[in-house]
Amino acid sequence: MTGHGQINAEHKTIDLSLRHTWTIARGSSTKKTNVLVRLSHGGLVGLGEAAPNARYAEDWRTVGAALDRLAPHLHDDPDRWESDLDRLEEILPANRAAKAALDIAIHDLMARRAGVPLCAMLGADPEKAPRTSFSIGMDDLAVMQSKVREASEFPILKVKVGAENARETLEGIRAVTDRPLYVDANEGFPERRRAVELARWMTSIGVVLLEQPFPAADLESTRHLRDSVDLPILADEAVVTVEDLPGAAEAFDGVNVKLQKSGGLRPARRLIDAARARGMSVMIGCMIETSIGITAAAHLSPFADYADLDGNLLIANDPFTGVTVSDGRLILPGLPGLGVSGAW
Ligand code: MG
Repeated sequence: MTGHGQINAEHKTIDLSLRHTWTIARGSSTKKTNVLVRLSHGGLVGLGEAAPNARYAEDWRTVGAALDRLAPHLHDDPDRWESDLDRLEEILPANRAAKAALDIAIHDLMARRAGVPLCAMLGADPEKAPRTSFSIGMDDLAVMQSKVREASEFPILKVKVGAENARETLEGIRAVTDRPLYVDANEGFPERRRAVELARWMTSIGVVLLEQPFPAADLESTRHLRDSVDLPILADEAVVTVEDLPGAAEAFDGVNVKLQKSGGLRPARRLIDAARARGMSVMIGCMIETSIGITAAAHLSPFADYADLDGNLLIANDPFTGVTVSDGRLILPGLPGLGVSGAW
């Protein structure tokens, strides 16, 4: 026994107000309820966050119930935390946002005990963090254009589009900026033939990559699109865990890895390694999360080719500070653990 005392786990919900109504191909929201986790041990605290998403059958209630089931399995002895992380998946399948919250908090606590920033514990070089894009949600074109102007300090934009208005939207965005664009269709693209025309046109206007054009299950349309165009196509909704990779690798060039989707830093790292082994590129992405969740992902981002870590910037009432962004560069705090501060 190398540690002192017991581990204590608490969780609570947090109501987040969004700066703008957030609209993607699936729907709109103006607020979001996440769940925060705080682990205490030997005078140190580790913070974690769950950003549940209905797309993956979770909400704050399922997260709270899952945390109540998972937390009693954590051991008081810090030497057992590594194996506790491995066991989360066995104890409770699915519920990945809930597991992400515990996984992040344990990592924070372990790195604080070691007295090193989390990225150092993960073996990640913070200088290699990719620049992050800033997301422009769907809206009236004039509003999207003003969001683009507001986001002038971000060198890359990620534009959310739907089936009906994708071309008009992107023409309108192009009218106000020359910056490289990532395009995210959130499974909402039109049928195959129009999709091919649209994607070909996108390459001609400086779109760098296209994320999840078709429904996750429609790998056949995605493969057809990839074979028809010269634009990297990334999986988001189609890849939740490593089990989804073999099928997805046939249809996608890369994968958007999110801590909330895969269940935390450890499974996300495994997914990144597995995607690399298949020759796929990697984006590290996020949900609408406070600086706890976003900073955790930023510590992992040096292992990715692309970063889309702006979820905290879309929130008007983030109580925490951690990673910051300067000219699109992710600046990690350099403090032990996540390096996040703020009132619990
Ligand atoms: Mg996406």
